[in-house]
Amino acid sequence: MNAPRPALKPLDDALAELLAFATVLSGVESVSTFEADGRVLAQDVVSALHVPPQDNSSMDGYAVRGADVLRAQAQAQGVLPVSQRIAAGSAGEALAPMSAARIFTGAPIPLGADAVVMQEDCEVLPADGVLPGGAVRIKAMPAPGQWIRRAGEDVALGSTVLSKGERLTPASLGLAASIGMNLLPVVRRPRVALFSTGDELVMPGDVAPGQMKPGTIYNSNRFFLRALLLRLGCEVSDLGIVPDRLDATVQALQQAAQQHDLILTSGGVSVGEEDHIKPAVQALGSLDLWQIAIKPGKPFAYGRVQQAHFIGLPGNPVSSFITFLLLVRPFLLKLQGVTQLATKSIAVPAHFTWARADKRREFLRVRRNPAGGLDLFANQSSGVLTSAVWADGIVDNPPGQTIQHGDVVRFILFPEVLG
Ligand code: AMP
Ligand code: MG
Repeated sequence: MNAPRPALKPLDDALAELLAFATVLSGVESVSTFEADGRVLAQDVVSALHVPPQDNSSMDGYAVRGADVLRAQAQAQGVLPVSQRIAAGSAGEALAPMSAARIFTGAPIPLGADAVVMQEDCEVLPADGVLPGGAVRIKAMPAPGQWIRRAGEDVALGSTVLSKGERLTPASLGLAASIGMNLLPVVRRPRVALFSTGDELVMPGDVAPGQMKPGTIYNSNRFFLRALLLRLGCEVSDLGIVPDRLDATVQALQQAAQQHDLILTSGGVSVGEEDHIKPAVQALGSLDLWQIAIKPGKPFAYGRVQQAHFIGLPGNPVSSFITFLLLVRPFLLKLQGVTQLATKSIAVPAHFTWARADKRREFLRVRRNPAGGLDLFANQSSGVLTSAVWADGIVDNPPGQTIQHGDVVRFILFPEVLG
């Protein structure tokens, strides 16, 4: 007699349950700002100075006092003597009355100046016996504050520039450096043990394509899962392929649990006779086997082996890939303290039709076209990894939904979820 089929779990419920298990890793590291890309801040970063520190010029030109220019235009054809020269990296003196200061981009505005006239709006008059520093004819009346970058206009002293729970990007590293941070406090990296299950699996390099025995396939999941984990800032122990035997699976899990925060496997989470993940995890700890209402990627397991989390992904490559993006990625980010975990999607018109509504929420491999719409990869089978390479994202299609050409759908860009 067949056991009753377990009810399918909606993805959002599965994600909420999974995230509830993901408590933030304890342990703060101070890492070089150079090395902090992709890491997650463990504390707020507060600025101890203004950026820019002083008012400075955003142009090469002349710093002036507007009232002096007005007077010079009335009395001297707009000519002002040049009283000093201020290059970036040096600080000038207060601007002498009825004079202009030669100034360069990034140099501090001298006290008393209230505008910069760009050099294109000036005529340089040579030095002579009367005006040894030379003079300049200001051809256009400057607006007050023109070409001045104000102190603190980027960052004000005392303000929080980056927040705890934020994942650092190249731009945030630059911002941290701009307030003098050479080290940043980040949550430690998750340690993840990765292994694949399946006696059919062969490693590329071990057997040449022409020598593959019938029934064997190359292990592809190991490669993309490892790469995805590394992109998410994990330390990965790649434990290779575990044979489809209960004792071997138990042994592999037991060893992995000691040194890792998460054990991630692919394959073997269905309930066939060759699927040993379930009994093995249950023998060592606890396991929930979920049937998630998504396509591809129905079977998914979460459990504990000693103090380590356990996640079992489906074996089919595309199922494994998609469930990683939708579930494992937010889980790993939460372990690292990330607070913004929602997967971003945008509204884009479908330039295809999808006539087969499924009762599960589907994630269709699509690609943007130059007309601003989405094209569909023809073969959406969960074993066809070509679809994931061809695509630049996935359409999140609700259960029971057909798609007509021109319908606006929810599109998740791969770059949003691949790292
Ligand atoms: P399973 O979940 O173990 O029943 O596997 C489902 C399907 O995915 C089978 O066709 C497996 O051969 C395939 N599969 C499992 N693991 C991998 C892997 N690491 N690389 C490529 N295909 C796999
Ligand atoms: Mg298998």
